[in-house]
Parts: sequence; structure tokens; C-alpha cells
Amino acid sequence: MTYYLKYRPQTIEELDMQSVRESLTNIVKSGNIPHAFLFAGPKGTGKTSVARILAKIINCESKNPPCNKCEQCLSITNGNNIDIIEMDAASNRGIDDIRALKDTIRLTPSKAKAKIYILDEAHMLTIEASNALLKTLEEPPSHVYFILATTNPEKLIETVKSRTVLISFTKATPEETKRSLARIIKKEELKIKNEELNEIIKMSKGSFRDAVKLLEQFSKDSNFLKSIKLFDVQDFLEVLLAKNLKEAIIKIENALRSGCTIVNTTEEILEKLQSKLIETEDRNLVTLIEYILEAQEFNKVTPIEELPLEVAIVKWCKLDK
Ligand SMILES: [Zn+2]
Repeated sequence: MTYYLKYRPQTIEELDMQSVRESLTNIVKSGNIPHAFLFAGPKGTGKTSVARILAKIINCESKNPPCNKCEQCLSITNGNNIDIIEMDAASNRGIDDIRALKDTIRLTPSKAKAKIYILDEAHMLTIEASNALLKTLEEPPSHVYFILATTNPEKLIETVKSRTVLISFTKATPEETKRSLARIIKKEELKIKNEELNEIIKMSKGSFRDAVKLLEQFSKDSNFLKSIKLFDVQDFLEVLLAKNLKEAIIKIENALRSGCTIVNTTEEILEKLQSKLIETEDRNLVTLIEYILEAQEFNKVTPIEELPLEVAIVKWCKLDK
């Protein structure tokens, strides 16, 4: 099992994002858990982990939820609890999908106290589907909870937003990332120098997921940080602007092989392109930026993470040729 799965936070205390930890603590303390949430924020910031913790708190059989020992908690951890329905709105975005979902909502839970619907990438729902969902969000049956998660809250319709309790996820601060890694370092008894740890935190750029991935790589080969040849974005852009397709693809593959993540790499390219665009006002750059933004969007739904960026590179290099 990868570190990311093995060390997913299982309790509120283990949540490393301070603001989220505090909001959730207050909600649970109040004893009145809302029936519809909106978790909004970038990828890799722990939305799914928090959704599962919340599901456990609602359905745990012990007095101090989540106990992480009862049947409910364990099956949620293992992802096989039949009353926790995780759906990806990217592939279930139409009105028929929402109608089918609404049919199942009326049925009481099989074993748990409540059924919990976790709807990921909720902004991908069509307007029709969003409207169909609205009525249920307004008056959910007492045995139903909704957790909508999204990386693009601005794309959700206002009425859906207004009927949910918003929890904002942001990029992790270096301290928050450190807290997250510290838990793993301790349990795995890893030996890591302070400067190595800081390097990993810096490279992860606010993504817990990336930080944990990098730490895992480090645990297998502590030299990897030294050997890592960081992605040289300037160098890459020169090749790209010269429309040297082969070289550009090789550079991306090398970057990934040496531990860069596609999310960070894409962001770095975009940042550089932005400053170049402002500097030169070159219209051609607009097209290139659009291709890469498109790749970033597709990145959320593709199983092959480097594919969208490679498609963008090919489209750009073959343009007007
Ligand atoms: Zn429990």
C-alpha cells in the first residue's frame, strides 16, 4: 500500500489543514451536523479524506466517533461500506444520473444510521442535473447526508452553493505539510535531515499528496533528492517555442521520472508562460496557454497523468506546420 493510502488521516486530529480541522471540530462539538456540505479546494488537499472522516463521525457505532474500530468505521476506511456512496460527477453528470440517485435516496440505509453521498467534482454536473439535485439538497431525508466536493466552486450554480455548508480547502502551508510528513516519518522510523525534509516540502508546493509521494520516494532511495534534476522550465519553453516536439516530450518524461509531478510541472509552465506573455504580448502564446489550460482541466479525469500535457504539446508543435 502506498504511503498516501496507508497514512490517510483517520481522525479530526490527524487532519493537517488547520482551518479545516477547526471547522470540523466546531461542527461536531455543536452536535448538529448539517446534511449538505460543499468541500471546495485544489487537488491533493484532503477533501476525500475529510469526507470519509465525516462519514465515520455520522455512522460510527461508538460514543466517541470516529473509533476506527467498529464495523462502520472499518468498512469506510476500506472503501466498502454500502451506505457510503462515492460518485464522480465527471462521469455521472447528466440528469438521468441524478434521477437514479434520487430514487436510491428514499431507501433507508442498509446497515448504517445514515446514507452518505459523496459527489466528487460536483461542478461537472450539468445545469439540469444540478437543478434536479437542488430539491433534495433543500430538504434531504433525515437519513441522508451530502458531501459535494469540487476543485472549481465558481462553476457550481449559486442555488446549489447556497444550500450547502462550505468548507474551504487551500494549499497546505509549509507547516501543515510538515505536520503531515512528521506523522509518517515517525511511524516509518525514517531518517531524514531537516534540509531534506524542507526540500520535499518546497517541491510539493502545498499538495499533501505530492509531499507524501516524494517522501515515499525518499524512503526507497534517500539519494533521490540529490540525483533529482529539477525540471528546468526555461529550458523546456525554449524547446517548446522552437516547436521541437520530440525534445519537448523527452523533457516532460524526464521530469516525471525524476520525481516532478504533472500538476506542479504544468503549473510551473503556465506561470512562466504568463510572465512571458505579459513581457512580449505575443499572440501565439495565447494559443499555447489555452492548450495547456485545457490539459490541466483534462488532467482531473485522465488515468494517464502525463497524457493531456503531451497532447497539448503535440497540438502546439503541429500547429501551422
Ligand atoms: Zn466507529
